[in-house]
Amino acid sequence: DIMLERTIAAIATAPGEAGIGIVRISGEKSTEILKKVFKPKRVMDIDDIPSRTVVYGHAVESKGAVIDEVLVIIMRKPYSYTTEDVVELHCHGGIVPIRRIMEEVLRNGADIAEPGEFTKRAFLNGRIDLAQAEAVIDVITAKTETGLNAALNQLEGELSKEIKKIMEKLLSMLAHIEASIDFPEHDVEEITTANIKNMLLEAKASVMELAESFDEGKIVRDGLSTAIIGRPNVGKSSLLNVLLKENRAIVTEIPGTTRDIIEEYLNIGGVLVRLIDTAGIRESEDIVERIGVERTKGAISNSDLIVLVLDASDELRQEDNEIIDLIKDKKVIAVLNKTDLGLVIDEAYLRGIFGEDNIIRMSVKNLIGIDKLEERIKGLVYHGKLSISKNSMVTNIRHKNLLDKALENIERAVLSIEDNIPIDLISVDIREAWNSLGAITGDTVEEDIVKEIFSKFCIGK
Ligand code: GDP
Repeated sequence: DIMLERTIAAIATAPGEAGIGIVRISGEKSTEILKKVFKPKRVMDIDDIPSRTVVYGHAVESKGAVIDEVLVIIMRKPYSYTTEDVVELHCHGGIVPIRRIMEEVLRNGADIAEPGEFTKRAFLNGRIDLAQAEAVIDVITAKTETGLNAALNQLEGELSKEIKKIMEKLLSMLAHIEASIDFPEHDVEEITTANIKNMLLEAKASVMELAESFDEGKIVRDGLSTAIIGRPNVGKSSLLNVLLKENRAIVTEIPGTTRDIIEEYLNIGGVLVRLIDTAGIRESEDIVERIGVERTKGAISNSDLIVLVLDASDELRQEDNEIIDLIKDKKVIAVLNKTDLGLVIDEAYLRGIFGEDNIIRMSVKNLIGIDKLEERIKGLVYHGKLSISKNSMVTNIRHKNLLDKALENIERAVLSIEDNIPIDLISVDIREAWNSLGAITGDTVEEDIVKEIFSKFCIGK
């Protein structure tokens, strides 16, 4: 592979000023390049530096001028991130020293790494499979401990192990079918068919269990997308501020966009809640007024959960009913706010619409009912049971889609058996199912998909 013959380099730390900055190099020429850009303090041959030990010295230009003080680590193949010779230069975390070292490294024969190329090499060189490689980015972008744990499990290969178990089962079915074709006595075929059907049903159950874990898995990784809506002046921004003050998990700004697309995350008892359109709430009294009905509808349809805020001290108004109409197909928690001013609203009517459990009396002003809202959100996600501790959970939509495909193939195979279709024809569906599962681990995945996956990584990873 020509791509793998290049020696690649990248700045592995985030841009900006920091304590340290790291330039990472991987490939055949790593140590040769190091010889050109590094002068150890204690005189020694770079080739004598033991693998995975730290050596102090200076990064230098070709003319010998010092760029910065550095610590260097060599990780010799195959015991490195990429399984190739990897060198890390740790310098001061200033923009100039890092850039100067990077320039020298490139000048001496390294190519700039593509986003995700180090991890891609770990995959292409067989150290980790594709699901594990995908977990690397999930570890980096995890926003809660629960999310981190799920990503680490996947990185350790827990999901892959489950997938491979099912794939092996499918393979052994194919072998059985082959054998029965070679010995076409009628009774052999009958026994085989019964066996295959049982094995298919077992495989189906395993695939289904994994596919179903995505309901939770997607929330663990990406958060429960939640819109806080209601007519002006009911207390939306007051509620938002209280929730953020107690539970803010992380703020991610998407560079180059307006403040509208700032994403805010809450961590509510381990549940990651991604708030939609908070800018609309904060900057005007009315989300609908500010961002328009169409986008409000968009926000509503993109959310897993709606927190509808109502003024408990007032009758339901026309505007409230219009909003209620917009969200009638969604999961809704209705907050009856301002109970400190009295309870005028028709609570019984709202119970009828949203269900008893989804009505929360609140006074944001007096901090009453916030905990009930949080409990309810947790309850919605975990249905009262925490299965988060399970080893393999599917958190990635790509995996979920492939599991669904495998499930279809397996179900079709079962139906074919029930319809007495000749067993050798069933093997087509079994092979398809095997293929779909293999695309999760990367055994059968196409190159452009691999490319797309790694292009989403950050530079230097
Ligand atoms: P928004 O337009 O829905 O975002 O509403 P705000 O959060 O801006 O609140 C509107 C007004 O209601 C403000 O003056 C708040 O102080 C007040 N408010 C919010 N929550 C309560 C509450 O629980 N009780 C009372 N009495 N006033 C509240």
